[in-house]
Amino acid sequence: VTTSELILLATIQQVKETLKPLHCAGKKIGFVPTMGYLHQGHLSLVEKARQECEIVVVSIFVNPTQFSPGEDLSRYPRNIESDLERLRELGVDYVFTPTNQEMYHHNHLTWINVEKLSDRLCGKSRVGHFQGVATVVLKLINVVRPDAMYMGEKDFQQLLVLEKMINDLDLDTRIVRCPTVREQDGLAMSSRNSYLSPAARQRALSLHNTLQMAQNTFTAGETEVESLLIKMKEHLSQSVDKIDYIEIVDNETLEPINNLNKHCRVLIAAFVDGTRLIDNIEIL
Ligand code: AMP
Repeated sequence: VTTSELILLATIQQVKETLKPLHCAGKKIGFVPTMGYLHQGHLSLVEKARQECEIVVVSIFVNPTQFSPGEDLSRYPRNIESDLERLRELGVDYVFTPTNQEMYHHNHLTWINVEKLSDRLCGKSRVGHFQGVATVVLKLINVVRPDAMYMGEKDFQQLLVLEKMINDLDLDTRIVRCPTVREQDGLAMSSRNSYLSPAARQRALSLHNTLQMAQNTFTAGETEVESLLIKMKEHLSQSVDKIDYIEIVDNETLEPINNLNKHCRVLIAAFVDGTRLIDNIEIL
């Protein structure tokens, strides 16, 4: 068994030059874009990429353009050494860790806007968020030129926005959707969970419990959304400080629906102790 070394790449040019011969040789390249402070949710994407691809590339970049003014950009958690250690253990080939200046030179003027899908849910309260996400991911796709990108359903709206961008712009890559990884008690793993005190973490559990109410309602044969949303809001507001949204939507258009159906999505964003948390489930 040969274990190859993880190679760190810091510039766009380094990534392009390093990957060029691999592209020419027809190697299948899997890519996992992240903002670092890696947890098992991220690592599940890396593991899947490792199983399916010959070359695995991970990026760690806290993308400033997807944070709105007043959000947590400056205190976003970071631990590059431990991230690299975990990626090494999983046999990742390349890690791209660009600086802000490398990704955005001082006169950056070009932005990607995926209409409609970006305006709803998280896009309403985080103005410009998905424009920042789509722009950085398009740049990363252009640099890495992956055959497949591994992304989590934890950020369901992000998945749909990026799938639409890839389709509309005829990009030569595809997204592999990966299920949300949860703590044993159901809390969706997130780098932002590190902001939570033990008491706040306990309250944060109600996001998942509230989502579960929708599944239980559907399983019991009820489908009416209006009264269900009222019950869910009542329940969630007992634990969180502020509800940003609870919505039940079509799983492709993200438009609200009146009756639960198989594969529709239930999504929540709420604040606990100043930390904004999101979670969602598919109704099955
Ligand atoms: P982030 O570092 O938050 O930008 O996330 C990088 C990638 O990891 C995105 O595709 C996320 O959807 C995915 N991700 C984050 N948390 C989880 C989780 N708990 N389960 C599965 N994927 C996740």
